[in-house]
Amino acid sequence: MKAITFQGIRKVSISDVPEPGIESPGDIIVKVESAAICGSDLHVYHGRETGIDIGTTMGHEFTGIVAEVGSEVQNFKVGDRIVSPFTTNCGTCFYCKKGLTARCEKGNLFGWVSKGKGLLGVHAEYVRVPMGDSTLVSLPDDLSWEQGNLLADICCTGFFCAEMAEIEPEGIYAVIGCGPVGQMAIKAAKYLGAEKLYAIDSIPFRLEMAERNGALPLNFENQDVLDEIQNVTHGKGADAVLEAAGGYEPMKTAFRLLRPGGILASAGVQAYEQFPFSPPDIYDKNLILKAGRCSVRQYLDKLIPLVQKGELQITDVITHAMALKEGVEAYRLFDKEKNVAMKVLLKP
Ligand SMILES: [Zn+2]
Ligand SMILES: [Zn+2]
Repeated sequence: MKAITFQGIRKVSISDVPEPGIESPGDIIVKVESAAICGSDLHVYHGRETGIDIGTTMGHEFTGIVAEVGSEVQNFKVGDRIVSPFTTNCGTCFYCKKGLTARCEKGNLFGWVSKGKGLLGVHAEYVRVPMGDSTLVSLPDDLSWEQGNLLADICCTGFFCAEMAEIEPEGIYAVIGCGPVGQMAIKAAKYLGAEKLYAIDSIPFRLEMAERNGALPLNFENQDVLDEIQNVTHGKGADAVLEAAGGYEPMKTAFRLLRPGGILASAGVQAYEQFPFSPPDIYDKNLILKAGRCSVRQYLDKLIPLVQKGELQITDVITHAMALKEGVEAYRLFDKEKNVAMKVLLKP
């Protein structure tokens, strides 16, 4: 089958790879109907996250149809429509029981194989899903593949970010980074009742979308973001900052924008050594820092009904749908053309 594989920094290729088969009785093989490129795929692509084996199939966001089930699978049958979180989970360990499925003791991230260990990615025609019963969720017939694909990561991650921010209607909030997760964080924060929500980025295309989603755009290239937030909060600072970019500078800005006792809600993937603020800075601000990978499996149960009812409109972030075999160009486009590309889907 065809798959997009990692071939070194800024290099992916379309490869012929073996079709996956059942390896353990809990496995489910899924025929991919829609997969998406994520900002965190670019961390691998750029070599900011290292250790992934050459030849690993890329990608972790997908939705599709059950093609084969292992002998112990009970919840799914061939032909079922499913959506998958971007990590697998057992459903029974300490973390799964706590709802922290992203940190399942047996879980793996799709598209991450290091020294031969891990799980192949989903930018392929078929995907093997270990612990299929506890990992996968049925995709209702009234949801599209596109909606399912966005629920596999960014919709849930944006909602998780907004929940971490403890939104209240009278609060003043800022979202840093108006890429796909940032847009979802804006939608979620609005859904949760945020009235004054600033959106910070430097790309006009992204800021325009943020404005359509109900945020107040601030372009840090030509506006003094700190000044704006200080003015509107009478010198206090924001109640929470939703950090959806990942990186040293966004975290630095987030810290500076917050009021004492404010919440830094960080959903961006961080790939650098040290915080841009010191332990005394944290103490002096009474900072509340919340961060990490979203437990998508937990959020799907809550968000699928909201998308079904139309309370969360999510597909406007999709700007491109390309064939899997155009994957090399799809990665280039997603990486380089942020003035036109928001979310890029791959159709096998
Ligand atoms: Zn993702
Ligand atoms: Zn578990």
